[in-house]
Amino acid sequence: MKLASYTNGEWFTARGAGIQVSDAVYGEPIAEISSDGLDFAGMVRFAREVGGPNLQKYTFHERGAMLRAVAAHLSERKEEFYQLSHKTGATRRDNFVDIDGGIGTFFSYASLTRRELPNQQFLLEDDPVSLSRAGTFLGRHILVPREGVAVHINAFNFPVWGMLEKLAPGLIAGVPAIVKPATQTAYLTELVFRRMLESGILPQGAVQLICGSTGDLLEHLLEQDLVTFTGSASTGRKLKVHPNLIAHSIPFNMEADSLNCSLLGQSVEPGDEEFDLFVSEVALEMTVKAGQKCTAIRRVIVPEGKTEAVINTLRERLAKVVLGDPSQPEVGMGPLVSRAQREEVRGKVTQLRHSSELVLGGENVQLKGGEWESGGFMAPTLLYCPNPLSASEPHDLEAFGPVATVLPYKGLDQAIQIAKRGRGSLAGSIVTHDLQEARTLFFGCASTHGRILILNRDNAKESTGHGSPLPQLIHGGPGRAGAGQELGGLRGIKHFMQRSAVQADPTTLGFISGEYVRGGQVKEPALHPFRKHFEDLEIGESLLTHRRTVTEADIVNFANLSGDYFYAHVDEIGAKDSIFGKRVAHGYFLVSAAAGLFVWPTPGPVLANYGLENLRFIEPVGIGDTIQARLTVKSKNAKDSKPGERPTGVVAWDVEITNQEGAVVALYTILTLVERHHPGR
Ligand code: NAP
Repeated sequence: MKLASYTNGEWFTARGAGIQVSDAVYGEPIAEISSDGLDFAGMVRFAREVGGPNLQKYTFHERGAMLRAVAAHLSERKEEFYQLSHKTGATRRDNFVDIDGGIGTFFSYASLTRRELPNQQFLLEDDPVSLSRAGTFLGRHILVPREGVAVHINAFNFPVWGMLEKLAPGLIAGVPAIVKPATQTAYLTELVFRRMLESGILPQGAVQLICGSTGDLLEHLLEQDLVTFTGSASTGRKLKVHPNLIAHSIPFNMEADSLNCSLLGQSVEPGDEEFDLFVSEVALEMTVKAGQKCTAIRRVIVPEGKTEAVINTLRERLAKVVLGDPSQPEVGMGPLVSRAQREEVRGKVTQLRHSSELVLGGENVQLKGGEWESGGFMAPTLLYCPNPLSASEPHDLEAFGPVATVLPYKGLDQAIQIAKRGRGSLAGSIVTHDLQEARTLFFGCASTHGRILILNRDNAKESTGHGSPLPQLIHGGPGRAGAGQELGGLRGIKHFMQRSAVQADPTTLGFISGEYVRGGQVKEPALHPFRKHFEDLEIGESLLTHRRTVTEADIVNFANLSGDYFYAHVDEIGAKDSIFGKRVAHGYFLVSAAAGLFVWPTPGPVLANYGLENLRFIEPVGIGDTIQARLTVKSKNAKDSKPGERPTGVVAWDVEITNQEGAVVALYTILTLVERHHPGR
């Protein structure tokens, strides 16, 4: 089968012979791959001129809905992907990580978009910052999509997750992508990509695919483009300094290999739950994807007196792993991606043995299907390095297979020192139930790790494990790991956007950002705002209420009603000595009284109070003070409504309570659910 690329809205098959790719299990030819003749300049142009504008006319919510629909479409075809994925050496469990994990990332970003992003095309970050004394000059960060293309270069070990985890945040941001999978497993990426396209959900130009070499693609990139790379540190370093990327300051996010470690706390004894958890986690990380995971545990850091117990238990566990054809249900570990990859890993093991002894390894393991020689099979291999501080190999060499080295430590300081010799890792884990030990090890290792799992009996059941990157948390580590960051919820989306700091007066800033800024001009129409539907409310529309004088009876009644008899409200003597020097009204009374001032009491389009944010009490209100509230429409966010559901939107109202001198006594935002006339935006 000759793999095709997808460019300029159509499939393209290269003319000449390509590279022959074999399956991992039997070594039989599975695909031919070449990008000869592909118009790379045209691809970039198409993404910028067609894909970008097509994506950017949608709001975040609409793009999130696309991702959800694509994920649902792919979910229905998972079985087809699983079958092909077995050819890459993946077992059912490995498929769960790669295929379900990838689709799950789309679902996760779709949900995050609805929860955390506005239903518009740009993103406001933080609150406006006052830059002047009188409040006429403010600043705010606004993020807009980059007007270029994102080139995603992926490693061979996650042909599906690798593509989808990069696409998800970029597409939500509104940036089109060119996906370049690694040659060895591109046939699986191509199938999933093909199914994604067939769904017809993504707009024209949003995604393109290169099967084969990237040719002169990087030469055509410009300032608005970006590159995200996952692969070996050596390829990453080479591409990062590509003259054209440097000439145009093109962001290059690098996710490279890392020598991740797992640390067993010195408080843990054999027989403790944590001891078992530690050994299970190491065995799992060595065998999932046959150890071909950038986050896999390569260095097993263990208190000196416990190495023997750890090695013996690990040996027992690993001996039970059934190797063979991953399409067989009883097989626990498949082959490496190819015979060549196995030879490379074997070479690394030979080098590791300069400073370590082999405690488990060898190839005379019975296979349950598959071919030892033509496939990529390799048995789990465990080494022991007696002098981890003087040896360099365990900290420098990544054997990208089922290989790990046990390293003994004396005291927590030394454990941290050994962990740090990895010079920057994607993921680490600390297994202990001792709080102080967990804290010491975490802070000792945090600066050199992108993510650290602290595993113990309390979280073991629900823990997602050492090796799983999660869409909500960042994936990436410093130093050797490439110093990049992916995912991390909103952070991942922002990576594809440009942050621009706008400085202006409150009225202009409010108009540009689509959100009322305190101090900006307001409109005061005659009709009460609670009598208006979502669509009829305008940003900056405001109501100045009547006034109310706070009496002693108010304070006493509120104390009785709430049961809050705090001395500053009800104890004349205590209140005199308080920071207020007198009895003051409860802050929550003021919030309640303000609601009483501004609500429209009869049934109308305002359906419910949805919440309250950023409440600040600024000046105390005493007996005899007179308060007044101003309620202003700050922002509006239409909610997606399901068929048959009443269409609504969330309106955020800025509330300012002032006293008889015009001084602000309380500030906050309330959220209300307001009915819409129509289901549309
Ligand atoms: P690789 O050889 O570095 O290749 C990575 C990607 O770069 C492939 O798509 C490759 O395409 C492409 N590439 C190579 N040379 C290129 C060039 N001159 N121009 C443009 N693209 C080029 O890595 P791999 O063997 O696929 O993956 C294994 C490595 O990736 C391991 O070291 C592993 O630790 C690391 N990894 C890291 C992460 C992470 O998130 N940090 C995740 C997974 C894997 P071809 O295949 O066509 O050469």
